Amino acid sequence: MSILFERVAFIGIGLIGSSLARRIRRDGLAREIVACARRQATLDTVIKLKLADRVTTDPADAVKGADLVVIATPLSAYAEIGAAIGPALKKGAIVTDVGSVKSSAIRDLQPSLPEGVSFIAGHPVAGTEHSGPESGFAELFEGRWTILTPVDGSDAAAVERLQKLWEATGSKVVIMDPEHHDKVLAIVSHLPHLIAYTIVDTAQNLGTDLQSEVIEFSASGFRDFTRIAASDPVMWRDVFLANREAVLEMLQRFTEDLTALQRAIRRGEGDTLQDVFTRTRAIRRAIIEAKQA
Ligand code: NAP
Repeated sequence: MSILFERVAFIGIGLIGSSLARRIRRDGLAREIVACARRQATLDTVIKLKLADRVTTDPADAVKGADLVVIATPLSAYAEIGAAIGPALKKGAIVTDVGSVKSSAIRDLQPSLPEGVSFIAGHPVAGTEHSGPESGFAELFEGRWTILTPVDGSDAAAVERLQKLWEATGSKVVIMDPEHHDKVLAIVSHLPHLIAYTIVDTAQNLGTDLQSEVIEFSASGFRDFTRIAASDPVMWRDVFLANREAVLEMLQRFTEDLTALQRAIRRGEGDTLQDVFTRTRAIRRAIIEAKQA
């Protein structure tokens, strides 16, 4: 692999940032990596794992001279980070992010970035329920989609350079409108997380006698929800606040469909239940065929 960027600065280096840093390191995709986090303990781990050439707690210091800046923090930190790095960015630099909501990312970052800097928001649709730099791995993006959401006036050459980087991680890249991205992710990712958080909390609120059995017999379906519901609470708080409109819209539709199933169960309408369950089975097959299982 050839060098795609001279100096890449990561603002936030947890699961996603460190996975990208590992891949860049492993395949020599950049000459130098700078990492920024809030806590010294995180930076000590980054040094121990040899994920970066230089570390700092100061975002403005981190981005100096960087030709690519990757923001990989929770979404609620974006506006403050934008204000901090804006004046320190090099002319010609590309700024991107990996956040799970794109309209809010553009709203919070774009206004602080100076002319001559290209901001191309992005989202690798890959992850786990773990957090922090120890949990990353270089193969995380292999075979997964990365969605880039340039807006009118975005520099086409910058989009292309960023696309090359993500493709070099093994990811497939698609360009999407930011609002469309947020709607799609609301149904495929955000709503499933909300349902998982709810069902696990409902079980948690059951009496203690039932609770121990919930754990014992979890393999019958509950266990898969607990994995999703173990995802980072701060990251997911931010996702729901940042993608409020789209999530509420999908939640409304879901509630209507759930009510329809509730009615079918109450009335003993087996055909309705079987029809729905047959249609949903086909979706699972399509996911397996698309190698996204
Ligand atoms: P993570 O493992 O928790 O890491 C977050 C990083 O951001 C840490 O280095 C943390 O530094 C830093 N940070 C946190 N708050 C900050 C603040 N206020 N100012 C500056 N730095 C801050 O998170 P992650 O899972 O990599 O997620 C990062 C982003 O990727 C999120 O926006 C998320 O929506 C997106 N994403 C996540 C997944 C997933 O499955 N996890 C998938 C796709 C996209 P300290 O350790 O010093 O606090």
